[in-house]
Amino acid sequence: MSNTHALQISVLGLGQMGAPIARNLVARGFAVRVWNRDAAKTASVPGATPCATIAEAVAGADVALTMLADDAALREVTLGAGGLLDALPSGAVHLGMSTVSLAIVSELAKAHAARGQEYIASPVFGRPDVAAAAKLFVVPGGPTGTLERLAPLFAAIGQATFPMATPEQAAQAKLAGNFMIAGTLEILAEALAFGEKGGIDPEKLMGLFTGTVFGSPIVNRYGGMIARAEFEPAAFALRLGLKDVNLVLAASQQLGLSMPVASVVQQHLVSAVDKGLGDIDFAGVSTIVREEAGLGAVRR
Ligand code: NAP
Repeated sequence: MSNTHALQISVLGLGQMGAPIARNLVARGFAVRVWNRDAAKTASVPGATPCATIAEAVAGADVALTMLADDAALREVTLGAGGLLDALPSGAVHLGMSTVSLAIVSELAKAHAARGQEYIASPVFGRPDVAAAAKLFVVPGGPTGTLERLAPLFAAIGQATFPMATPEQAAQAKLAGNFMIAGTLEILAEALAFGEKGGIDPEKLMGLFTGTVFGSPIVNRYGGMIARAEFEPAAFALRLGLKDVNLVLAASQQLGLSMPVASVVQQHLVSAVDKGLGDIDFAGVSTIVREEAGLGAVRR
């Protein structure tokens, strides 16, 4: 990898998260090329070089940063015809920021190593507005030397980095965190429905929670969204939240532990998707909890 200031970065995947990340890299002076399946989105990163193919985007790249929806998208972009594995120069890093399974992370780490390339999993915490403010929490996993060389990139997009020893551990740490978020959503939805059954206004109850011992960024933000029934436009789509809870449960099965809270949230998320709510915000799972409590999907 060349030195920091000459670092050539390709960003593949310009959705809600990839686009602000790419814009911040441009703003911090990195040379950035961008590619997206729907090519129109390359216009969302002024100052970057738009590329029509993955091969064009990663020619001469030091780092190919992927921020794609899920395992299937990452697999297609990496292992598909004309994909990253064939196109990335030897010695370059594939920095995978999507939230994906442990299995695909292991598979890609092996596949890249066999080509003399390196796969670093680097999932992030923070929603699109946090990404836009360059305040993400970055969880990169891989050899220390590589993570140190990537530090200027992490600093350009985030406020703190939490290194893990391997790509698999980075993916697992992210899933553990998303399980915390999903479980917190379920608890908030149940607690607010419980209070409402007794006639307590959810916003008033949130004031109690955030003003006493429960305040945290997740509780404050998601609790407020649930209390106000603000689920659109989605910053993190409910269908992606279900994807993550499914990944947690798949990994927990492989590891031989049961995670009953994850199973409850999974059922509620599946019900929400079945009702056509996959594209509202993750916090919208609370509508299912409300219905089960006999409150009606949304407070009137
Ligand atoms: P998004 O807005 O739905 O963007 C998804 C991206 O994946 C788009 O660029 C899309 O391309 C691309 N894609 C999907 N299927 C593809 C395929 N088969 N081939 C090529 N490209 C494909 O999602 P996001 O919110 O940016 O999330 C991206 C990742 O970050 C996910 O793994 C998510 O779990 C994780 N994440 C999200 C948040 C959040 O708050 N949103 C926070 C932390 C982590 P098109 O534009 O062509 O559809």
